[in-house]
Amino acid sequence: MKEVLRLDDCVSSLRGVGAAKAKQLEKLGILSVRDLLYYFPRAYERRGDIRKLSEAEENLSNSFLLTVGTKVTTAKIRSGFSISKFRAFDESGSVEIMFFNSPFVKDVFHLGTVFRFYGKLYFHKGRPTLSNPKYEAYIEGIPLKNYVPVYSLTEGLTSNAVTKLVEQCMTDALSALSDPLPEHIRLSLKLPTLSYAIRAAHFPQTDAMLSAALRRLAFDEMLLFALQIAYAKKERDTRIGVTIPPCKVSELTALLPYELTASQKRSVNEIYRDMTTINKEGYTPTMARILVGDVGSGKTVCAALAAYIAIKGGFQVAFMVPTEILARQHYTELSSLFSKLGIRTSLLLGASTQSEKNRVYSEAEKGETDIIIGTHALLSDKVIFKNLGLVITDEQHRFGVVQRATLKEKNSAAHLLVMSATPIPRTLALALYGDLDVSRLTELPAGRKPIDTFVVDESYESRLIAFIEKQVNEGGQCYVVCPAIEQDEEEEYFSPERLNVSPTVTSVSKMKSAIEYAERLSTLLPSLRIGCLHGKMKAAQKDEIMRDFSAGKIHVLVSTTVIEVGVNVPNSNLMIVQNAERFGLSQLHQLRGRIGRGSRKSYCVLVTGDNAESAHARLSVMKRTTDGYEIAEQDLLQRGPGDFFSQNLSDNFRQSGGISFRFAKLCEDTSLFDSAFSTAKSIIQSDPSLDHPDHQALKKILITAKISDVASLS
Ligand code: ADP
Ligand code: MG
Repeated sequence: MKEVLRLDDCVSSLRGVGAAKAKQLEKLGILSVRDLLYYFPRAYERRGDIRKLSEAEENLSNSFLLTVGTKVTTAKIRSGFSISKFRAFDESGSVEIMFFNSPFVKDVFHLGTVFRFYGKLYFHKGRPTLSNPKYEAYIEGIPLKNYVPVYSLTEGLTSNAVTKLVEQCMTDALSALSDPLPEHIRLSLKLPTLSYAIRAAHFPQTDAMLSAALRRLAFDEMLLFALQIAYAKKERDTRIGVTIPPCKVSELTALLPYELTASQKRSVNEIYRDMTTINKEGYTPTMARILVGDVGSGKTVCAALAAYIAIKGGFQVAFMVPTEILARQHYTELSSLFSKLGIRTSLLLGASTQSEKNRVYSEAEKGETDIIIGTHALLSDKVIFKNLGLVITDEQHRFGVVQRATLKEKNSAAHLLVMSATPIPRTLALALYGDLDVSRLTELPAGRKPIDTFVVDESYESRLIAFIEKQVNEGGQCYVVCPAIEQDEEEEYFSPERLNVSPTVTSVSKMKSAIEYAERLSTLLPSLRIGCLHGKMKAAQKDEIMRDFSAGKIHVLVSTTVIEVGVNVPNSNLMIVQNAERFGLSQLHQLRGRIGRGSRKSYCVLVTGDNAESAHARLSVMKRTTDGYEIAEQDLLQRGPGDFFSQNLSDNFRQSGGISFRFAKLCEDTSLFDSAFSTAKSIIQSDPSLDHPDHQALKKILITAKISDVASLS
């Protein structure tokens, strides 16, 4: 009698698995029956979707139900190489089918028999052809699979072989699998059981079945992630922070030439409350708050107010930003504001001279400065604060969690304020910001002029040059952003990963280099002063150019994406982006945010080097809206959750202790995130240590952070 398979059994207890096969499986990380059950297909061939030959999709594999119409003939092409050919047909036409080095097919494809073929139809010498298609005999009454799973493989293993092994595991092993999700949660969210989901993920029969399976498996990942965050948050709530004494911010706001917007006031209040309130237990928990606001929404002044509150309370502030340009700009702005209030501001950059650095180190340690604005240089061990009370980081997506943590380690009781200009669809915000509390700037300051946006191709160049000249003659200034520094060289920040676009999409167009383009513009517009800025320049040089641009001494600034982050020159009113198809929508939105800050009418021109319709369609979103949230939603839609996740989740990913978002990536149902977070929250609230019997299985996974370990609970 056959032994019952157990989840922990070694794969070699499966039929057909000897030492060699076990080794191959091991290469894929499959040691046990459980591993195999969790070895999901990387794709499915939708072979159930049968097309007529006349309706084949270009460049895609399709299924065809064809009758063999001629005998198979085999020809030797050269030694050791043969082609076997025959013709087959359906009611819409016929096709030539070729197999290479497979003379045995003459015994498979008998005249008049019917097969389901799967492959790409292409034209060979003008004739429709299938080469080496996959095939299955079609016999009336015996159903063929609608979906054929495709597994990632290693040498010596075929997808078919893996399929057979998974099939073997299905019955006994699956029935032994216990479901970690409490049933009432599962039912209320209309999720299938775990064993149903696993079976359906390997062998779905319908689209509905597959999506139910993916939804369930995605939910498990999200819930575990959400549980970890809820845990972390609970833990943080008990971390004792410095208590900042109450103060009035009107001393500072009175110096501003404008009234704060409603959401600026609200956010500053939230920050104030976090840092000054003492809880029931008699202490102030450390603040961990993110301030999210679209470009131009006025985050800097909120940061200044937060810093003011901490400084007035007798504490020091560290303000970390990702680029030197931005650090200098913030320094210039804030030091002139703060000096009126007797607040001492210092600047610390990697490029600062040793003696400058030493001076700042000593000021920090002796408490002779109140706020240090700087780049990563702030992370140095040499930076020791006398009395650090608040850490601010700007543009958080540029900093890793670890860097943020390093700065916080300088005083673990210091409060943390993170600022981000990346508008994230609300549904994903929780996941992306992890355990941070969120404040939002929801409106732009009044009086902003709308920006007109155009998408053009390179044939518009002469008109564009004339347009630049006109804007400058009327007193405006212009940015031209190019993707590269020198031809075929990529900017430091310019990796496909940062860009949100895949390199294959963009390889067609030749990148404009900032340096060459600046030279070209100088020739074409000899009366204008053209500057060039890129990441490989020395800091002092960059600084000088930025200062000249700010002061209006440079009319046109040709640059790489170094200007993307936070730069503020209100007089500039024209933004031209070359090879715009190479940028993600969210990044274009950031770039466009550099203009429209002053009183001038502003224009953004996106120049595509790639004439493909898809590039235009993608970019036209930029014409339609200036709402960063809508653009982020579109970015999410266009790139798909997979891309969006892999880029935006990467930080939390590392933080999440190894939970992968394999299925969450594929899941288009973003409301599932909300469900996962509210479920996690209520679980942790009702049962903070997960001691309830219903939560044991979840707890165990949480500790091991590996979903496939649920099975070991049975
Ligand atoms: P971001 O949120 O992109 O960092 P900034 O803080 O650079 O935006 O602010 C953009 C511009 O808006 C700055 O010139 C700033 O002085 C101005 N600003 C900020 N808040 C207001 C406000 N409430 N009313 C008018 N202008 C404001
Ligand atoms: Mg900013």
